[in-house]
Amino acid sequence: MSPPLGGRKAFVRTFGCQMNLNDSEHILGVLLEAGAAAADRPEAADIVVVNTCAVRRKSEEKLYSYLGRLARLKKRRPFVLGVAGCVAQVRQAGLLDRRPAIDFVVGPDGYRELPELVLRAAESPVVRTGHSPDWREIGPEATARANPWSAFVPVMEGCDNYCAYCIVPFSRGPEKCRPAGRVLAEVRAAAEAGALEVQLLGQNVDSYRDPGSGLGFAGLLEAVAAVPGPAWVRFITSHPKNFGDDIIRAMAAHPSVCRALHLPLQSGSTAVLARMNRGYTREAYLELVARLRDSLPGLLLSTDVIVGFPGETEDDFEATLGVLREARFAGIFSFRFSPRPLTAAAALPDDVPLEVKRRRLVELQGLQKTIQAELNRSFVGRELTVLATGPSPRGAGRCQGRTEGNLVVNFDAPAGLAGRFVTVRVTGAGPYSLHGAMIPG
Ligand code: SF4
Repeated sequence: MSPPLGGRKAFVRTFGCQMNLNDSEHILGVLLEAGAAAADRPEAADIVVVNTCAVRRKSEEKLYSYLGRLARLKKRRPFVLGVAGCVAQVRQAGLLDRRPAIDFVVGPDGYRELPELVLRAAESPVVRTGHSPDWREIGPEATARANPWSAFVPVMEGCDNYCAYCIVPFSRGPEKCRPAGRVLAEVRAAAEAGALEVQLLGQNVDSYRDPGSGLGFAGLLEAVAAVPGPAWVRFITSHPKNFGDDIIRAMAAHPSVCRALHLPLQSGSTAVLARMNRGYTREAYLELVARLRDSLPGLLLSTDVIVGFPGETEDDFEATLGVLREARFAGIFSFRFSPRPLTAAAALPDDVPLEVKRRRLVELQGLQKTIQAELNRSFVGRELTVLATGPSPRGAGRCQGRTEGNLVVNFDAPAGLAGRFVTVRVTGAGPYSLHGAMIPG
């Protein structure tokens, strides 16, 4: 029997975070398993799936403009158009009214059914949304990895925290954890396929509990770090309120666990954190940073910050700047607050004027740029291990890579270098990257 999608070509476009990049590997992997071949652009595809992000209003607006382009393309050259991911789950059938060119809408729990959805959507539009309480297992056999040397491995999905600004509990549903045995099986398979780096993924990895044994995240991390092969193990995202000392001890005990941690702050004001329903204070966050730095010398931290949350005063904003000065993050993702549907904050008065939000964001990013420039200069003259990821956008004859601490390095090296560890002598640094030359090894 011929495979259901045999002879068709599939293209997946991703908006959003690492979780979405990994979901796109599943979406494409499931379509390839059903006989489709990968296309490198929508113009060459019979099936186009757009995997979406609902976290900010801006990301949703970008999606609608991209869907407009696809609708025009579809008039010239028919294909099946699907919308997947967080916007699909939140907007559901409303997407079909807004963009009639869409043939199917699929939330994260429907990816296993994609071949059937594609076939049904060729007849009439299909909506497959809703959350299942069970883990949707999509193993390595149906994962089309973008890079064999760097493997995303999901460990949990969804969230029960309901931070006031965040749409994720609605788009990803309640928290559910992947059985530890399946996590470890995927890590072993990735190692056998040549992965040098494993990235454990989830909205709140540090609240992980194995559904059978109750093993927590620290135990899972130790088990993953013990798998022979991958030299680097990372995880994202952690919630400061769940980050126990057992996880710090597990990191300290295993040199393969990278000395890099993304620890979302959101605000440096305890009053704003309480209104955001974050579950920690400014002091607790800074104490956690101090404990991490004591136990993990050389740790580089990154974070997320929202400016202009409802009711944020100048003093609240100053408190956030104060945490930046004290914690000295190596990188931040910073945003102006925008209300998202279904969230508690959507019911609050969005009372920080746009020009104030803009000014605060510029000020915050300016301070962070200064901190990063200082921090990055401290690496000049050092030799660093770098995982080469491909050509550098900073000119021909140069490569780009990342350090264990997730710093971007542009360096002189032979063309085509990717998926290898190299040693780079750092000769200069700017606020957003280091540069140097590869030391032949
Ligand atoms: S912890 Fe808060 S910010 Fe993170 S996914 Fe859950 S609700 Fe969103």
